[in-house]
Amino acid sequence: MSRIQWPRRIIQIASLYFIGTFSYYGIFRCPFAVPYVSCENCPVIQCPGKKIWLSAWIAILVSGLMFGRAFCSYACPGGMISELFSKFSVLKGAIRNKLDKNLSYIKYISLAVAIYLFWFGHNPRWAIPIRTGEFWQATSLTFEHAFPLWFIRTGFVLVALLLGLVIPYFWCRFFCPTGGLLEIFSHFSLFRYKMKDSCTDCGKCEKLCGMETRPSRHNCTNCGVCAKDCPVDSIELENRLSNSNK
Ligand code: SF4
Ligand code: SF4
Ligand code: SF4
Repeated sequence: MSRIQWPRRIIQIASLYFIGTFSYYGIFRCPFAVPYVSCENCPVIQCPGKKIWLSAWIAILVSGLMFGRAFCSYACPGGMISELFSKFSVLKGAIRNKLDKNLSYIKYISLAVAIYLFWFGHNPRWAIPIRTGEFWQATSLTFEHAFPLWFIRTGFVLVALLLGLVIPYFWCRFFCPTGGLLEIFSHFSLFRYKMKDSCTDCGKCEKLCGMETRPSRHNCTNCGVCAKDCPVDSIELENRLSNSNK
């Protein structure tokens, strides 16, 4: 494992401990159309989101301004599942270049739909809130009492995550609204991996990259995994503040 992977794995495990249950509830038990954002009013009393949603979002957005999409590669439980699935993807490298870039815009449409439902649609409930009950039993009750739109949303997320077994990081690259939001932030982030002018366009970083991209291009999650493997040492972590002062 490369040097950068150890801290990444430790942060991933810590994050799984702190927000893993919240992530699980968001997909499988949250009654709202857009999960994770109406926690204050949520009747699902056991969800840890009731306590941590605001601080979690502040931390995610601050991390976006500091490190772009690093939340994706260092802390998001959905990203961990995608990373695990992508190890077994059968069509690695099948979607690249222009098609990859064009498909990656879909996540901005997901983001726009989520913002519309939250702000203009008042984030309607698409499931009966299951207040009590043991973990798995309460999940099955939610499935029993959810409305068709909830099934469409939940099914869409699960199928897109599972498609990671076919195309690496299918959900994260093309559909995740949070990924879209963080990618917008990444254009202004303080730190980012970037390719220097000495890059010879050999494509090694793209072949190594789980997201099948290059540093500072679309879908780069600032993980730094490719940085040490560039044959001409052309990948660097840029501090844009100090660079702009030069
Ligand atoms: S794209 Fe979405 S699901 Fe994937 S790692 Fe980022 S925030 Fe998590
Ligand atoms: S591995 Fe280095 S030289 Fe090759 S494309 Fe990536 S940044 Fe450029
Ligand atoms: S291009 Fe490099 S830094 Fe960016 S996500 Fe891929 S491996 Fe990580």
